[in-house]
Formats: sequence, structure tokens, C-alpha cells
Amino acid sequence: MAIQKRTSTNVLLDTALRNFYAAAEEMRLDEGLVEILSHSERRTCVSIPVEMDDGSVKVFDGYRVQHSTALGPSKGGIRFHPDVCLDECEALAMMMTWKCSLAGIPYGGGKGGVSFNPLDYSQKERERLTRTFAARIEPVVGTWTDVPAPDVNTGGPEMIWFMDTISKMRNQLEPAIFTGKPISLWGSKGRTAATGLGVATCAMEVLKVSGKPVEGATVAIQGFGNVGTYAALTMVKAGAKVVAISDITGAYYCPAGLDIQKCFDFVSSHPKKLLEGYQQEGMQKLAGEDLLFLPVDVLLPCALEGAINGKNADKVQAKFIIEGANGPVTPEGDEILDKKGTLVVPDFLANSGGVIGSYFEWCQNLGGFFWSEEEYNDRLLRIMRDNFHRVWDYSTANGVKMRRAAFMVAIKRVADAVRMRGVFL
Ligand code: NAD
Repeated sequence: MAIQKRTSTNVLLDTALRNFYAAAEEMRLDEGLVEILSHSERRTCVSIPVEMDDGSVKVFDGYRVQHSTALGPSKGGIRFHPDVCLDECEALAMMMTWKCSLAGIPYGGGKGGVSFNPLDYSQKERERLTRTFAARIEPVVGTWTDVPAPDVNTGGPEMIWFMDTISKMRNQLEPAIFTGKPISLWGSKGRTAATGLGVATCAMEVLKVSGKPVEGATVAIQGFGNVGTYAALTMVKAGAKVVAISDITGAYYCPAGLDIQKCFDFVSSHPKKLLEGYQQEGMQKLAGEDLLFLPVDVLLPCALEGAINGKNADKVQAKFIIEGANGPVTPEGDEILDKKGTLVVPDFLANSGGVIGSYFEWCQNLGGFFWSEEEYNDRLLRIMRDNFHRVWDYSTANGVKMRRAAFMVAIKRVADAVRMRGVFL
């Protein structure tokens, strides 16, 4: 009996489902497993009444979706944004299941959020909203059930409000329910650089397996924010030559190589954390998008989704693209790159350093014992290299692109767990 495939009017959820069904079909995944994994275990909707500073009361909509806990507690961020809705949370939760599985960590996938624009509210209003949301989702989150983290418009302060509220409700400190906490309060050293370090590790491994030396390899990086800066610093430390970087103010190109430490210091002291005004001998300024088309060995899109698409992918000259951002290459762009022979390392492998770092924070919280930054980075590098090679080996052995290979490796690990644990999870 053929299964009834789920579809959605939400583009993100529909895409997540289509990607899953396509990989499942190619793997010849058992129909029962396809049914189970195309549905989320739990989709929670809550209302969040909040007293405004002027004494009035507003009610907000909040969500938490746990797609799968087959491998372990579900893991995924909490987003504060006007576009947040149940279907978007479900799509992102499903992607977290594959990301955590591929990362080889003992987590399933979850995601949540509240539909509102935090910029429209005072800090006190945001704190009351966060604490009430925490209280409403308290029955479904926990160290061994679901471990949320920061996402768009949430960070250290929100994680502390969440942790503090639930700790008070349970009358015991619960540091391991939320990751992404400040270092001074159960957070972990190394997290800031983790995603960029992981992206750079994938770039170095892809060069090595392709027989190209890292030393002297030329690199262009779109986006000089959290992911881009640490990827750049790591590549330079390994001997590569970062010739171009960009941010919302444009692209900065120096064929002889940029002084990345100087760029980093410049941005760190810039009031808006931008490259605007950066100068270096032999450097020229380009329009932002032109960075994507430079003659470099490696391109790291670390800014935004959809940067390389059906309209511009034919102009890309880089041989290797490592997706630091989420979804920087569209399916249409992917097809063009594939025909040109460009190798693309997919986002949920390349930028998984962040979630692996969250797992490290959880481990340290459970043990009540903190690691040094060196220990954190050593473990991260080892895991990222192993993960890269697991996907690379699968891709070459089965003749499939890295993106499809990554999906298949990730789905297989979850499917095996469901099979071993049985249907009645
Ligand atoms: P960030 O806000 O720190 O940096 C984003 C950078 O991109 C900024 O320098 C910004 O100026 C630049 N940018 C924005 N639009 C641009 C454009 N059109 N052209 C060139 N540059 C542009 O964000 P981040 O944390 O570095 O995240 C970047 C991407 O990586 C996002 O897609 C995010 O979802 C993804 N990601 C981040 C992490 C993490 O740990 N930070 C983990 C996984 C995935």
C-alpha cells in the first residue's frame, strides 16, 4: 500500500517534507519508517498573556515542536520573530533531527518560538513574555526530553530567563535544559567560535580529499559576522589565503590576501560591527554580490539564505563551496553548480559546529565540570572531521552528491534508532 505523502502550504515545511521523501525513496526506506519520520512526535501551541509596561495585557502565540526523540532529547532553538508559526517550527525541527543525527550526537530535533517582533517591546516586557512562555512549555521541556537553545532574536539573556523560571518552578537548578547560556552562568568556553571553526574544518577536509594543499588555497567569504569571522581566522591560521570578505556594506578584495586579524580587530571596534572604512594596501572594494564570482579555490557563503541561486550560480568560479549559512545555495543554484562540477558541502554538515558545541555545554552541565577551550576545540575538530568523512565516503561509494549523501546518512541513523526502539516510542 503506497503511503499518503504529507504536503504543506508553508514553503519551508513543504520543502523539508519533499527533501525527506526524496532521500527516503532513494534509500528504499521502509514505508512504516517513512510514515513515522514524516510526522512530528509532539506539536505544542500555547498562548502567552503578558502585562505591558502601560498596564494593558496582550496575548502572544508560542510554539514548541519535537519532531523526533529517537536518538535522544530533542534539540533546537527558540526564535522570536513575527513570521514564527507552527508549520515553520515543524520544518525547522525536522531539519534539526537530521542535523543532530548527522553530527553524531545523542539528540533528536526540536524547534520553537513566539510570533512577535522583540524590537517593538521593552526589555521588561520581553522578560515577562519569555518567563510566561517558559512556564507554558515547562511540561514538555527538560534535560532528558527537549533542550532548547538560542535562535533568531534570542541569546544569553533569554536562556537565563528560561532556565531561571523553570528552575524556580521545579525548586531545583536546571542548567542543562537550555544551552547558549553566558559563560559566567553555566555556559561554555569555545562556543562563540564553534560554528566558524567547523565550517573551516570542512573546507580544509574537502581540499585534502581533492588532493589540493590548504597552504596557499584562496578563499572568499560572504558575511563577516559570527560564522564568517571565525571561519576566516581558522583558514588563515591553517595557511590558506583569504582574499575577499563581505558584509552588508560591500565586498573587500585583496588578491595578495587580506590581513584577517586586522579586519577582525577593525570590525570588533566598529560601533556597528561593520567593515565600512576598512583599508589595506592593494585592496579594492567591490559590490557585495561580486565576491561570489571571484576566481578562488574555496567559497564560504556565511551570510544569508538564497545567495547562490538559479540567476547567478553560472558565474561562480570557485571549485568548492562550503555552506556556512543556512540554505545559501537554492535547489536551482545547486543544479547549475552540479553540472559545472562544483563540489558543495551542505549546510547541515558544514555549520553543525554550533549544535555540537551546544551538546558540549549540556555534557559539562550534566557533569558540573567545565572544560578548557583547548579541550572543547580538540573534541569539536575530531567530531567535525569524522562527520565530514562519513558523508564524503558515503557520497563517493554510492555516487550521490554530498547533500543527498548527508540526508541519507542522517536519516539512516534515526531510522535505525526507531527500528531498534520499536513503534511505541
Ligand atoms: P551574523 O549576524 O553574526 O553575521 C551575518 C553577516 O552577514 C554580517 O556580517 C552581515 O553584515 C552579513 N550580511 C548580511 N547580508 C549580507 C549580504 N547581502 N551580503 C554580504 N554580507 C551580508 O550571523 P551569523 O551568526 O554569522 O550567521 C550567519 C548564517 O549562519 C545564518 O544563516 C545563520 O542561520 C547560520 N548559522 C549560524 C550559526 C551560529 O552559530 N552563529 C550556526 C548555524 C548556522
